[in-house]
Amino acid sequence: MPKRYEQFCHACRAVFPEDRYACPACGGTLGQRYDFGDARYCRDVMRRARRYWDYAPFFPVREPARAVSLGEGFTPLIRCDRAAAELGLSRLFVKNEAANPSGTFKDRCMSISVSKAVEDGDRAFVIGSAGNAGAAAAAYAARAGLPCYVLVPAATPAGRLAQIQVCGAKLILVRGTVYDCIRLIREVAPEMGWRNLTTAAVYNPFQADSEKAIAYEMAQALDWRLPDWVATPVGGGGILAGMANGFSDLLELGLIDRVPGMIGVQEDGCAPLVEAFKRDLAPDAIPTVAKPFGIAVAIADAYPLDGPAALSAIRRSGGVAEDVSGAEIILAQQLLARTEGVYAEPASSTTIAGVKKLRAAGVIGPDDSVACVITGSGMKEMGLTAGHLPKPPVVDLDADALRRAAGAL
Ligand SMILES: *Cc1c(COP(=O)(O)O)cnc(C)c1O
Ligand SMILES: [Zn+2]
Repeated sequence: MPKRYEQFCHACRAVFPEDRYACPACGGTLGQRYDFGDARYCRDVMRRARRYWDYAPFFPVREPARAVSLGEGFTPLIRCDRAAAELGLSRLFVKNEAANPSGTFKDRCMSISVSKAVEDGDRAFVIGSAGNAGAAAAAYAARAGLPCYVLVPAATPAGRLAQIQVCGAKLILVRGTVYDCIRLIREVAPEMGWRNLTTAAVYNPFQADSEKAIAYEMAQALDWRLPDWVATPVGGGGILAGMANGFSDLLELGLIDRVPGMIGVQEDGCAPLVEAFKRDLAPDAIPTVAKPFGIAVAIADAYPLDGPAALSAIRRSGGVAEDVSGAEIILAQQLLARTEGVYAEPASSTTIAGVKKLRAAGVIGPDDSVACVITGSGMKEMGLTAGHLPKPPVVDLDADALRRAAGAL
C-alpha cells in the first residue's frame, strides 16, 4: 500500500520522509497527517468499512494484509433506552469497547503499534501501563511471537496482572504511579533494544491513529448523524483526543456536518484535566496530581500526557470536563449493567456517572442525545463489583428453602 500520510512535529512543524517516534530536530511529539486529497476514495473507505483494518488507508502500516490482529475494533454501538430513561436523557448509546479481544479499546492501539514495529524490524517491546494497555500489548506481542516487558504500578489489582502474565509477557511491578513507570522506561528502552508501545503520543505517535477509528465506526453505525455529546473517560487523554481527530476527519470529508461536544470524565481522586478545564488553565498548565487515589485505576494518570490535546479538543468542540466520585462510579456501573446488560469497568463507568451529573446540572439538556464510550470490561475487576453487591443466598436441596430464598430476593 502506498504511504498516504506525512509525519510532522507538533512543536517545530518539521516534516520527515522516514517514520520516527520523536522529532529528530527538537525532540517534540509527532503526529500523522493523512492525505484526504481524493475525498471520494476516502469517503468510500469510511462508508464501506466492515472491519477495523478496512481503515488501513488511515493507518501508518504498509502491509495491512500482514497486520498483527485478533479481531479488534468494530465493536457494537448499542442504543440504551432503559438506561436513558433512568438518566433523564432522550437518547443514549454506548460504544462497547469491552467487546475487544483483551477487553479494552487498547487492543486497537496495540494491533497498529505491534504491526508497525514488526514491519520496521523491531524484535522486543516494552510498555508502561495501569494494566489494560499492558494486557493488550502482552496479547499482541504473543500473537506476533515477540517478547514484551510490561511495567505496572505495584498497587495494580492482582486480576489485572494475571492477564498480562498468562500471555507470556515479562511483568515488572514498580513502586510508583503509571506516570513513573513510563518515565522509568525512557531511561532504559534504547539500550535494551525495546520498542516503546506506551499509549501516549509523546512515546508512540501512532497511537493517535487507532482511536480515531472509534469515531469513524460510531458515525457509520449512526448513518452519519452523531449525537450531541460523546463522553469518554480521561486517563492520559489519548482516547478523547484521538476520537476528536476522527470526528474532524469526518467533517473535513463532508460525511458529517458538525462534531459532537466532547465530554471528558475523571475520578475525583485523580482529575488534573478537570481541574485545568474548570480553572480555565492553558493546555500547557495542566497540573500533576501528587498522590492519585480511587477505584478507576485504569485512568489514574498523575499527569495526562495527551491532556493538552484532550483539553484543546474539549474546548474546540464546545464540550466539558467533569469529575465523579468512587461511589457515583459504582452506582453507574450497576445502573448500566442492570438496565442494559453492559458490564463496564470502573474507569468506563465514569462516563455514565459523569453524564448523570451533567444532566442533573442542566449542562446536558433533556432532549440531547449522548454516546458513552465503554472503554473496558467490568470483568477486569469482578472482586470490586462483588464487594458492593448483596451476598447471594445458599440453599440446601429443598424446594421450600428455594421458595423462601427466591421470595426474599
Ligand atoms: C486506558 C484506559 C482509559 C483512558 O484512556 P486514555 O487514552 O489514557 O485517556 C480509559 N478506560 C480504560 C478502560 C482504559 O484502559
Ligand atoms: Zn520538532
